[in-house]
Amino acid sequence: MSEKRLAAFDIGGTSIKMAFLTTEGDIIRKWSIPTDRSEAGVKIVQDIARSFYKELEADGLTTVDVLAAGVGAPGPADPEQGTISGAVNIGWPNGYPLKKLLEEAIELPVFIENDANCAALGEMWRGAGSGTGDVVCVTLGTGVGGGVVSRGMIITGVNGSAGEIGHITVVPENGFLCNCGKKGCLETVASATGIVNLYKAEGKEAPDARTVFEFAAAGDEAAKRVIDRCAFYLGLAIGNIANTVNPAKVVVGGGVSEAGEALLLPLEQYVKQFTFPRAMDVLSIEKAQLGNDAGVIGAAYLAKVMTV
Ligand SMILES: [Zn+2]
Repeated sequence: MSEKRLAAFDIGGTSIKMAFLTTEGDIIRKWSIPTDRSEAGVKIVQDIARSFYKELEADGLTTVDVLAAGVGAPGPADPEQGTISGAVNIGWPNGYPLKKLLEEAIELPVFIENDANCAALGEMWRGAGSGTGDVVCVTLGTGVGGGVVSRGMIITGVNGSAGEIGHITVVPENGFLCNCGKKGCLETVASATGIVNLYKAEGKEAPDARTVFEFAAAGDEAAKRVIDRCAFYLGLAIGNIANTVNPAKVVVGGGVSEAGEALLLPLEQYVKQFTFPRAMDVLSIEKAQLGNDAGVIGAAYLAKVMTV
């Protein structure tokens, strides 16, 4: 008799990443299906179930061989109600009963969490944060995502809004307008879009964040100021998070983190400047290791810890 598997689904706006994993977090098999956003995303659950059964049968297995399923979804999750809200890019209404619908469709226990939180759990379990249960994850992509893991558990807050690091206010006056409706959020200055915005505020143009980093490397003073400001704002946010939850590791991922030392070296200096010295003693900043797999690995971790 073989050991039971975990199933993991990471639901995104364009594709759904799916995987089977061992209970140790090793990926046995992974694949993806397109996200059908038609009719307010009503077909997504059935699409997941159909693909799940097909792949399970291909391995000669049935649901008896699966312990549970973990799911990451793009919006604040209410783990007690099993609902997702604010998944606007998929079309689901607020309070969408994802856990109940999926449990009916695949006849297994299902545990849901926000996708950024799943990525944080993944990095904590098998990535750059492994070896500690106290990790803060910051993902610098089109926006800024985040997740805070304390003592091995994701911090969700009262309605799933904890860990929204991208919406920490770092520019309290005259900041750029954020998608969330506030002004001066971290996301408006530290995401790929934010870096381009900062460069524009210098009176210059760049098509994307990568180009701003290239200009900085070539000696462009405005681009260098932009990278420094981006690192400053990130450091300010991370320092204050570190003072609040005292993590062992801050894991920085996403496309912008590919800039590497050009961002991470100044970031370390600013984190040091804004972090309570005793919290800084135990803190290190790491580059994320799992890439696109972080979400399914974290979702599997969720399924494992909620089941046992
Ligand atoms: Zn915001």
